[in-house]
Amino acid sequence: MSKKMLKFVTLEKHMPEKREAASRRTDFNEIYGEFETARATEQASRCSQCGIPYCQIHCPVQNNIPDWLMLTANGRLEEAYEVSQSTNNFPEICGRICPQDRLCEGSCVIEKGFESVTIGAVEKYITDTAWEKGWVKPVTPVAELDQSVGVIGAGPGGLAAADELRKKGYQVHVYDRYDRVGGLMIYGIPGFKLEKEVVERRATLLADSGVTFHLDFEIGRDATLEELRKKHDAIVIATGVYKSRDISLPGSGLGGIVPALDYLTASNRKGLGDNVPEFENGTLNADGKNVVVIGGGDTAMDCVRTAVRQGAKSVKCLYRRDRKNMPGSLREVTNAEEEGVEFVWLSAPKAFLGDEKVTGVKAIEMHLGIADSTGRQVPVEIDGSEHDIPCDLAIKALGFDAEDIPTLFGAKELEVSRWGTISIDFATSMTNLDGVFAIGDIVRGASLVVWAIRDGRDAAASIHKYLAGKQAADKVALAS
Ligand code: FAD
Ligand code: SF4
Ligand code: SF4
Repeated sequence: MSKKMLKFVTLEKHMPEKREAASRRTDFNEIYGEFETARATEQASRCSQCGIPYCQIHCPVQNNIPDWLMLTANGRLEEAYEVSQSTNNFPEICGRICPQDRLCEGSCVIEKGFESVTIGAVEKYITDTAWEKGWVKPVTPVAELDQSVGVIGAGPGGLAAADELRKKGYQVHVYDRYDRVGGLMIYGIPGFKLEKEVVERRATLLADSGVTFHLDFEIGRDATLEELRKKHDAIVIATGVYKSRDISLPGSGLGGIVPALDYLTASNRKGLGDNVPEFENGTLNADGKNVVVIGGGDTAMDCVRTAVRQGAKSVKCLYRRDRKNMPGSLREVTNAEEEGVEFVWLSAPKAFLGDEKVTGVKAIEMHLGIADSTGRQVPVEIDGSEHDIPCDLAIKALGFDAEDIPTLFGAKELEVSRWGTISIDFATSMTNLDGVFAIGDIVRGASLVVWAIRDGRDAAASIHKYLAGKQAADKVALAS
């Protein structure tokens, strides 16, 4: 093993510098800086090069982490990039927004006695350097194939599948109802976690690789699934989940109560330079307002931190469980607290107050009772603990469900689960319709970017086998 490794005993863990909260509150730029080269090399050298690397096992794309850490520690960055990009289509994106504490870094074996290796930050450093040095190049397939694949959805799942299929030489057409490429990476996730240029340069690279994008093109409105099947030899459905979960409470119909994704999309569009009337007229803008966000997941964290940056007077996050039991990443809670967000733990909304527009939320305190069948303690109301929290903007961040895809796509025969997610054969990613594959959130339910990438890669491999088989069968049929 290289003498440069195993430095965790003497070298402390360091993350790239995090900007001061006061400066973060004023813009939508990412909050972490980049490692200096020396610091990246040093941090990579903390890895103990485990024989069984648990970091890799718990990375959804099975990144060869020990190898690229060792190459980085030895200053062999171009090779580190080659290894890193061989398993992950968008390593710099995962390095920024994977919840590493729950995935690779959470499983790093040196975490117990010493702090884990900063895997995500090194991954981001390697690929950002590769972009800077011009090592990231468009795909040039060895041979162009006649067969074409239609991908519905330009989120991370669809884009990873498109990239892999282009590498094999297929003609790839990506359809999206939005006007930009990226799915939730462009319109959901705020810039302070993932700057938009990082997504845009990937979209440009894919276009330069020969992927054809059909934007403002909605399956169900501009074409049915059947029409698309006739055009292409295989189809990938990667449409994500967009139906916001709602709560029905007294006062739910008042003005000033908005779904999280509408709010975040307006903010992202504004940041991208679009004209957004709902932002300008204040409907989807927290400037000068007292804001209450309901929910405890990562979307809620993105809303509270966006509201702070828009100049809200106060921002409170109402969550019915406690800090320990919230679904959102604790790293994001800490970031939000530093930026001035107040968390109202163990509180649930009972009603929205106001005449025409919301003026407050009536909340009730909760305590955690006995665990249910999933092992989670059930929140129980505390009698007589109702209290009012004044606000003029209430944002509902309660999660997402699948839309009714079979109806929308005019394909009643497409099988879905009881939650509306598309059912697939997990060995092949194929749905019950021949040549129609599905990936990402529309299969898993709301999940993570890195899982969508993994699904896109798996589906591309299956499609390659499927299309090779189809071509061979066609040749036999022609010859007989
Ligand atoms: P999506 O990214 O949702 O893309 C689906 C695409 O399909 C969209 O572009 C949509 O316009 C298009 N589409 C839908 N229907 C049609 C149709 N009928 N015709 C044509 N096009 C259609 N994950 C992380 O890993 N880290 C994070 O920090 C993180 N933060 C998040 C913050 C927010 C606010 C949200 C909402 C999610 C976050 N996620 C995060 C989750 C992550 O964004 C998703 O898991 C991931 O984007 C799913 O990828 P996908 O390709 O399946 O779908
Ligand atoms: Fe960790 Fe995500 Fe990178 Fe895998 S892709 S190594 S989980 S940051
Ligand atoms: Fe290195 Fe930690 Fe992975 Fe072991 S688990 S190979 S120490 S990063």
